[in-house]
Order: sequence, then C-alpha cells, then structure tokens
Amino acid sequence: MSTPYPHSPYPAYPYQQPGAPYPPVPGSACEVCGALPAAPVTVRGHQGMVVMMRLLRRRESLCRTCALAVFRQMQRDTLVRGWWGPLSLLITPATLLLNLGALARIRRLPAPATAAWRPPLDPGRPLLRRPAALLPLAVLAALVIAVPVLIAAGGSDEPSKVRFQPRKNTEPLSVGACAHNDREWPHQDLRNVPCDSPDAQYLITEQHNGYCADGDYYAYLQYSPDGATPLCLHPVRK
Ligand SMILES: [Zn+2]
Repeated sequence: MSTPYPHSPYPAYPYQQPGAPYPPVPGSACEVCGALPAAPVTVRGHQGMVVMMRLLRRRESLCRTCALAVFRQMQRDTLVRGWWGPLSLLITPATLLLNLGALARIRRLPAPATAAWRPPLDPGRPLLRRPAALLPLAVLAALVIAVPVLIAAGGSDEPSKVRFQPRKNTEPLSVGACAHNDREWPHQDLRNVPCDSPDAQYLITEQHNGYCADGDYYAYLQYSPDGATPLCLHPVRK
C-alpha cells in the first residue's frame, strides 16, 4: 500500500538530491549499446541563434560510457553554439554548470559490467583537451576583458575618458596673472603663467556683478581661491 507500484522499474525522482549518483535501474540496459547497468541520465544543451534560441534536453537510460559520450557531445555543442544571443549569454553558462552536476553523477555510475550488444558511444577526448570546443569561450573571455579596456581607451570625443583623466594642474589661479590651458577647450587644465610669457592665453579676472565679460570663459570652480566663485578667463590677443 505504501508503495503503489512495487514492480515499477523507474526509481522515484532520482533527481531530488543534487549530486546524488544516478541509481542504476536493475535490469535496465543502456538504450544505445545494451550494456548493464544503466541509469536514466539527463544532459542539457543550449543553442543561441541571435534572436531565437533552442533549449535541448536528452534524457535516456544510459550506461556510463554512453552517458559520458552524450555529456561531452552536448557540452561541446553548447560551448560552440550556445553563446550567440543576448539571453543565451546567460543561459549557456547555466546549462554548462547544470551539466557538470550531471557529469559528477555519471562518473559515479558503475562501469558497464555486461557485454554490449552494440558498440557503445565513443566519449572521445575530455573537452578541456579539445581546443575547438573552447575557442568560443576564449573569444568571449577576450571580449569581456577587451570591451571595458576599449571603452576606457575610447576616442578623444568620449567625455567619460576626460572625466577620469586627472588634471595636471590643481593650483588656484591668481587674479591679475595669466593662465595657460594644457588641454583643448571645453576641457580645462589651467596653470598660472606670467602675462609676458609666450604661454599666456588668458588674463585671469574676477566676475563683475556675477558675470564674466562677453567673450570670456569661466574657469572651473577648483581654480578659484575661494572654491565658490568662478574666475573669468579673458583671451589674450597676440
Ligand atoms: Zn551504453
């Protein structure tokens, strides 16, 4: 009564315990090669197709040799074809990790003990020794590293780059002296220079009635002695 199907060949929910070995089902042969023992094995795959994608799942009763072959095949295909789509970038690593859990359980299956009536699947070499399978992963890793580097080193029009560049000159400007900008406008990297120096570009003046004269520039607040009232930069004619 407590076990309604005492002769059922299927174990009750073998996947409830993560990491638990696949329990070989007594009398159940590998669906591929016919060897014993075999267990129901689930391996997942993912295929990204830019705007579409495909979630794959193989669940078969397999011996250890065939299960390892199915795992490596699915894992290889996912490594190669999994990444190509925005959602796929998230699903693929999850699929690969889920399959690693399946691999741990496959490894704990007993080796086939009886002769197979067909040749088992060839597991081939481990994936870590197949450069072709790992190439997209390497490309992706390179992109992940390269994109922020490229952004950080982006074009000179990129304001974010300028914002993060430290200014060379941090001294306040002296009213009545002259200034030179070590950067191109609208960026400012100002330093005091004598007005008779060939470097003098702007005469430094204070505001009048809260404004600089027409044609004057406003220096950043950091160049004001009080840090609160912007100084004016009057272009020096040469
Ligand atoms: Zn098999």
